[in-house]
Amino acid sequence: MSATPPPQVPASAAFRSLTPAVHRASTVVFEDTASFLARRSRLFDGFSYGLYGTPTTRALEQAVAAVEGGTRSIVVPSGLAAITQPALALLAPGDQVIVADCVYGPTREHSASLLRRWGVRVDFMPAEADSIAGMLTDRTRLVILESPGSYSLEIQDLAAIASQAHAVGARVLADNTWGFGSSRLFEHGVDVVSTALSKYAAGHSDVCMGAITVRDEALFRQLKTAVAAMGLGVSGDDAYLVMRGLATLDVRLDIQAAHALEASRWLRAQSGVARVMNPADPEDGGHARFARYFSRGNGLVSFVPERQDLGALAAMIDGLQRFRIGASWGGTESLVALADLSTARSAPQRAVPMYVVRLHFGVEPVEPLLQDLAAGLARLRAAPASPASAAPAEKSLSID
Ligand SMILES: *Cc1c(COP(=O)(O)O)cnc(C)c1O
Repeated sequence: MSATPPPQVPASAAFRSLTPAVHRASTVVFEDTASFLARRSRLFDGFSYGLYGTPTTRALEQAVAAVEGGTRSIVVPSGLAAITQPALALLAPGDQVIVADCVYGPTREHSASLLRRWGVRVDFMPAEADSIAGMLTDRTRLVILESPGSYSLEIQDLAAIASQAHAVGARVLADNTWGFGSSRLFEHGVDVVSTALSKYAAGHSDVCMGAITVRDEALFRQLKTAVAAMGLGVSGDDAYLVMRGLATLDVRLDIQAAHALEASRWLRAQSGVARVMNPADPEDGGHARFARYFSRGNGLVSFVPERQDLGALAAMIDGLQRFRIGASWGGTESLVALADLSTARSAPQRAVPMYVVRLHFGVEPVEPLLQDLAAGLARLRAAPASPASAAPAEKSLSID
């Protein structure tokens, strides 16, 4: 038997592709024993093993850092990992983390279950907090923000909270999945910007990835060391998909934000709609804060239906022709998702909607989408009453 060696593909100056090269690797090879033994020193910049970075993933990291206004990014296999990994790296038993009540559900789950089990004190702040002064302790090490919040799109006063956190030596992490491409959160005091690239960066619902971005080199090294220790990396093929998405980020967001704004104005005029949430809309209660932190909206609009009975809500949603039912927005297709927020809040606050309908506008023409919604709202109003229909649209909560 004779072995067939794999073909070698030398880099060629004669071939100049317009698109970035995709590098796939587990093994990378070294010149000599000394450089092999010194490979750990290449963790932050060079190349030592496919898991820790390839020219393709490093190029993506640079592009993402530029979009976020940071200096260094670390790509990880999901947006969720971009939040959980810094939390694990920066917290130890006995420390306290303060988490915004409106964070992405799995972020909440990670804090409330795993971090607590590992001896971290977890407290939730109201979704629209402008101060955490009363919650800070001498063990506060991390504050996790998400503005606008998942489903309900509240905005925390990021700058005020960051300066309070820094005064006790705590770091501030903000989930910037919503604002990717339309914000500069480091300028408001955020230390770690965590973004699900699965959403608008990739933009086509075909890849899961996240990015952790910082401005501080020492913090970068601490986080990169932790991510490497946890064994997380991304493939060159997935990195390529996100780079391709980035090329159209601005044009997609411009269209999607315009359609969502038109839809939120339209929704406000419909009967059966108790409240519309889209902070990019000047009529939204969060618009002043939005204008301070974001330069553009996106394709998301949520609304609280007057009727809160599941039968009527399902009649509205299941009959939609142009909105597919699904999570993970940020692609080119329009989506609808229903959430019960009454189970997802712990901080005392004024009113929490129960069922919220979240719409994500893709890049399709907006008129047919609004017609589809009009028919859906008619079904909502006309549906026969089901047992839970007595439930109020808003209920007050103060638990935990
Ligand atoms: C989707 C999402 C995430 C998680 O991203 P995945 O890549 O799906 O893990 C985190 N935060 C927010 C706000 C999200 O919308």
